[in-house]
Amino acid sequence: MSDRDPDVVVIGSGPNGLVAACMLARRGLRVLVLEANSRRPGGALGSEELTLPGFVHDVGAGFFPFAKSSPAFIDLNLESVGLSWDNARFESCHPALDGSYAAISRDLELSAKHFGTPRDGERWRKLCEFHASIEERLFGLLLRPFPALRPLFQLGLLDAARVLGMFAVSSGALARRLFESPAAQRVLPSVALHVLIGPEDWFSAGLAYMLGLTASTGGYAVPIGGAQRITDSMLTLLERHGGRLRLGARVARVVVKNRRAQGVILEDGTEIAAGRAVVADTGAPALLLDLVDRAHVPPSILRRLKRFDYGPGTFKVDWALAGPVPWSCDVARDSAVVHTGEDVSDLARFTREVRQGLLPEQPYLVIGQHSVIDSSRAPGNRQTLYCYSRVPSRVTPSWDAHRERYADTIEARIEALAPGFQKLVLARRVTTPPDLEATNENLVGGDLGGGSNAWNHQLLFRPFFPYFRHRMPIERLYLASSYTHPGAGVHGMCGYNAAAMVLRDVT
Ligand SMILES: Cc1cc2nc3c(=O)[nH]c(=O)nc-3n(C[C@H](O)[C@H](O)[C@H](O)COP(=O)(O)OP(=O)(O)OC[C@H]3O[C@@H](n4cnc5c(N)ncnc54)[C@H](O)[C@@H]3O)c2cc1C
Repeated sequence: MSDRDPDVVVIGSGPNGLVAACMLARRGLRVLVLEANSRRPGGALGSEELTLPGFVHDVGAGFFPFAKSSPAFIDLNLESVGLSWDNARFESCHPALDGSYAAISRDLELSAKHFGTPRDGERWRKLCEFHASIEERLFGLLLRPFPALRPLFQLGLLDAARVLGMFAVSSGALARRLFESPAAQRVLPSVALHVLIGPEDWFSAGLAYMLGLTASTGGYAVPIGGAQRITDSMLTLLERHGGRLRLGARVARVVVKNRRAQGVILEDGTEIAAGRAVVADTGAPALLLDLVDRAHVPPSILRRLKRFDYGPGTFKVDWALAGPVPWSCDVARDSAVVHTGEDVSDLARFTREVRQGLLPEQPYLVIGQHSVIDSSRAPGNRQTLYCYSRVPSRVTPSWDAHRERYADTIEARIEALAPGFQKLVLARRVTTPPDLEATNENLVGGDLGGGSNAWNHQLLFRPFFPYFRHRMPIERLYLASSYTHPGAGVHGMCGYNAAAMVLRDVT
């Protein structure tokens, strides 16, 4: 296939773009993926030596609760092209300054012993057992195109009612209902904050449940060698089925003729025809406000997209360390991810401050310890450390004025839980919201979630009603990114479901 005659052009090589490309190529379509980044495919799924030579850091996604359970990844079978995974003894640890902690392990007996009080441990074990019994059916309901009536019946009315009863409240309310100790109570609200869904937000329990309970099944798995290996595995599959990737190929325009997407124009003016479809792994506003001539988009949709609701920014720090982090809490030393947050009200305070445009003095942190699991990430006995927090997209006077000072604030927060940490730092790399957007235009203002993940931006409203099943208001144009249902995270299901729509329409 030459670059000039594909059946399908995929704009963007993030995980959703590549899953869609693989599914379409596997069905015999000629697929060309065009990626703006000139150095690396994968979008927010990749790794680079961000600090020192030999230290491999994940640039975006670092932990993969859906690695073994997402229908897309099960179908692609990336392990068949050499991808391998590993887990820590504990998936997530939630220590506080008073010495209390709770931790999630895939070993439920072990987790029950480390989940606040014995009573909380027992309740957590029972909840995990319930989740394990419904996970496959629940994913059928929540990850497939919405509405999914057959999966709803497969889940069964009793289980569906129990899940709904848990999802229909805030994560803080669910945590208080389930557990008695502050340590156990902070676990679920804490994981929902990955996408800044706060402990007091309506229906935030749904996201908290999904991110917390999947840690007890697939766990926060890491790919050996770095997140880039996941991207590379998808590319191997794509090429095996005749598909191609072009780096440094930013799409500037989608060509629409006779109300139908016919191809794309690159920034350098090259026009590429797409015989059957154009699939965009881009932002929803970027696609319909910038890449497509607005004359082709209904005015009501244009109005909604101009007011599109993004999540807050992301502030990330990566370190090269001389040795493992000396956590006061022993379990944290054996944990893939460590979350900071004293209790539910501390997490609520953090959420409020970010939403008010403030830089919290005591930030909630997601801290990833990849090299504890995968020794190939750092040379010798040295370690990598990965950390992000949620922040306002914009600060005064500028992010450049705050970047190093805020990284110091984050270091101090870790030091308080792990005295001696700062002495281990060999180098660090700070990534601000504008830095994230500069390398990947989907991360608008540093939002890692593909737009807000609040309840009113889910299901029928993702990215906007009535275009919630990947088909856009222009014929043969599809949106496949995390801006669509089921949203943020590396599960590949946005791309997988979009590819199913394309196949339904064009074959
Ligand atoms: C710091 C951070 C931490 C995260 N942590 C996790 C985690 O631990 N676990 C998890 O599951 N998820 C995590 N996520 C979220 C996850 O990475 C995203 O949800 C996922 O990558 C979205 O995939 P995507 O394919 O929709 O888009 P992206 O990964 O954003 O990729 C989009 C691609 O499209 C390209 N593109 C955009 N416009 C154009 C254009 N006009 N022309 C050509 N190319 C274009 C971009 O350059 C980019 O490569 C994290 C994200 C970030 C940023």
